[in-house]
Amino acid sequence: MSEKFEQIAQALRENLRFAVLGHIRPDGDALGSQLALGLSLRKLGKDVRIWNEEGMLEKYSFLPSANLLTKPPAQPEDVDVVLALDTAIQNRLGTTVAAIKSAKLWINIDHHPSNPGYGDIVHIDPHAPATGQILFELMTNQKFPIDAAIAENLYVAISTDTGSFQYPNTTARTFEIAAELVRTGVDVGRVSQLTYENYPRRRIELLRELLGTMRFDAKDRIATFSLSLATAKKLGVLPEDNEGLIDHLRAIRGVIVAIFFEELSDGKVRVSMRSKSEDVNVCAICEKFGGGGHVLAAGARVKGTLAEVEKKILEEVRNVVSRSDS
Ligand code: 5GP
Ligand code: MN
Repeated sequence: MSEKFEQIAQALRENLRFAVLGHIRPDGDALGSQLALGLSLRKLGKDVRIWNEEGMLEKYSFLPSANLLTKPPAQPEDVDVVLALDTAIQNRLGTTVAAIKSAKLWINIDHHPSNPGYGDIVHIDPHAPATGQILFELMTNQKFPIDAAIAENLYVAISTDTGSFQYPNTTARTFEIAAELVRTGVDVGRVSQLTYENYPRRRIELLRELLGTMRFDAKDRIATFSLSLATAKKLGVLPEDNEGLIDHLRAIRGVIVAIFFEELSDGKVRVSMRSKSEDVNVCAICEKFGGGGHVLAAGARVKGTLAEVEKKILEEVRNVVSRSDS
């Protein structure tokens, strides 16, 4: 582990121009990780770009130095090193890739077990609950600067990917790291409120609509809801508004798999899945449909109408859930 950290850190020390990238439809782990590493590199005097296809999301605009994270420029740029963070597969970097004109080195740092290991230096730790946790280990091991702003970005990355330190991937080490980040200056109450108690009203109106479409299957062990383009338009919701709403389905007693179907404008449906049992590996299910993720949280984008995709996916999940019975 520390040999890999040494190799990454050497590449960071030896070079000047960096692009720190994260995945499309970014979450708190992607954005917090990008900002944390970007800020640390800036403190070392590096020339750093922090790009995400969507730029900074409104809901994470409270992150320290959020303004440094932008959409990629139209004119591609030459850099020395590209860092791909929290991104299971290269095409999930979206339009940021086209903004890299040239790079000497690609570094891939992630925690998705489905990551195939693209790039020149690859560090994937599927046991880490968040990419932010890997970055904390890297930065402390290699004595990269962590100030209060960097600590807050790492804290949000870890807090959001562990479901506020609740998911089974949360370990004693995660709490030790959180404690260290709090000591470095994170105000837990303030940050938690900004992360979890600051939703726009339209998000809750969206939840009301979603619950109206709620369906159960496989003797109530599968729960689903769906969002059509028409409803999204009617409510004026942003893609970021639905992050975490699937947790309402997972939280139901007896439900093993929660599925959220979201109609996209490109003729595909975004499928988001959560499992409460290691026996039901939703990453494996999503991989069958060209997606990926983690054993208990995964996703895919599947061609077809809402009704078609719902039918196809439910058939598969039903099979896996009934197999886990025997
Ligand atoms: P979410 O359901 O929150 O969008 O994603 C859950 C997990 O599955 C995340 O770790 C995410 O990276 C992964 N994931 C979601 N959608 C896709 C997809 O279309 N392709 C791949 N490879 N992974 C996905
Ligand atoms: Mn993550």
